Amino acid sequence: MFDSLSDRLGGVFDKLRGRGALKEQDVRDAMREVRIALLEADVALPVVRRFIDQVTEKAIGQSVLRSVTPGQQVVKIVNDAIIEMLGGDVTPELDLNAAPPVVIMMVGLQGSGKTTSTAKIAKLLKEKQGKKAMMASLDVNRPAAQEQLKVLGEQVGVATLPIIPGQQPTEIATRAMQAAKLQAVDVLLLDTAGRLHVDQQLMDEMKAVAEISNPRETLLVVDSLTGQDAVNVAQSFSGQVDLTGVVLTRMDGDARGGAALSMRAVTGKPIKFAGTGEKMEALEVFHPSRVANRILGMGDVVSLVEKAAEAVKVEDAEALAKRMEQGKFDMNDLRMQLKQMQNMGGLGMLAGMMPGMKKAKAAMQASGMDDRVLLRMDAIIGSMTPKERANPALLNAKRKIRVAKGSGTQVQDINKLLKMHMEMSKAMKQIKKMGGLKGLAAMFG
Ligand code: GDP
Ligand code: MG
Repeated sequence: MFDSLSDRLGGVFDKLRGRGALKEQDVRDAMREVRIALLEADVALPVVRRFIDQVTEKAIGQSVLRSVTPGQQVVKIVNDAIIEMLGGDVTPELDLNAAPPVVIMMVGLQGSGKTTSTAKIAKLLKEKQGKKAMMASLDVNRPAAQEQLKVLGEQVGVATLPIIPGQQPTEIATRAMQAAKLQAVDVLLLDTAGRLHVDQQLMDEMKAVAEISNPRETLLVVDSLTGQDAVNVAQSFSGQVDLTGVVLTRMDGDARGGAALSMRAVTGKPIKFAGTGEKMEALEVFHPSRVANRILGMGDVVSLVEKAAEAVKVEDAEALAKRMEQGKFDMNDLRMQLKQMQNMGGLGMLAGMMPGMKKAKAAMQASGMDDRVLLRMDAIIGSMTPKERANPALLNAKRKIRVAKGSGTQVQDINKLLKMHMEMSKAMKQIKKMGGLKGLAAMFG
């Protein structure tokens, strides 16, 4: 699913490659595909429109960084815009700044994951913040809904309000407030009833409960798999109660993340948590950048572009890519690549980003190479003659001693370097065979 998204973007961006600046038509062409990608990621249509308008305006006329392709730069711009739209890279926290018991009211449709999320948050408050929490289920619609919360409460070790059959939600809320005060509870979580669809009775009930409990947080729980529909839900709820945040559930499934963008755009409220499974531990703070990656399906390309933008010179890179395409990889190439690696944050970074580099990295590590010796290797290559650099096979024992002396190293260091060069040229050939050179070249070019 994500692959197709990534492929789609990749295709467009290929077309953009090799131009000097982001021209209006290029951007518009790219945006047409981004638009489809966003829709495929389940971002709601009005949100997509607004987003595309903003990003188009931002992108047109931007000069392309020398070291990245226009396509890569568009990815970066889109990525940044998604993160910005999701509220930037700050971690939203629960607001518990009120006199105890601080009330968190959970609202949402039936089956969205309210009860589960209630217990997860209670667990988190108890274990991570040392809070004394209490939970109460106000769901009198679904049989055994209150039982369900009680069971989860026992599981996470958080008290639940004793069940009294026949009570109405407002009565339960009142009782919960009294109990929480009496028992000196820090945080009271109210798990409200859901409905299959939004209806006025539900909304009135919620408002009445809010009036009684004066919640500090009102969290809308939304199933991220519901995609386009999630927007209608968000719209209805945010029109009726003062939402303070969103919990997106089922982010573990094949949710395409688009709901996150829509939620944020429609409610204007931060997404505070992401549910990532049925287990009580499966709750994460929400990371905009991860969702952006997911929506774009471009993975680490974005961070790669960031690094490249700072570091790599396009001419060198293009020359290298060309030579590699021809199956050539001599000491000059190695040296250039070492320099680029250094600029891009070292071996670990690079190997993490490029599947094809893993083998080369393993070879480097096996021969005791790490980031610190990048510099030493550079010195070794610097002590070779141009002929030796172009043809490392010339390096016999005598020449090795000379190079070692010249670079202040040992012959065994020269051997390590030669071994690494060999492994790398093998890896390059491998990459080429896997048809991955395009990706590699794009990365450097
Ligand atoms: P409610 O009707 O809104 O209270 O929804 P529930 O909390 O009862 O959840 C409905 C179902 O969704 C249950 O089977 C939960 O285990 C499941 N569920 C809730 N959150 C998540 C999640 O983040 N990931 C997955 N995979 N399942 C979830
Ligand atoms: Mg429930």
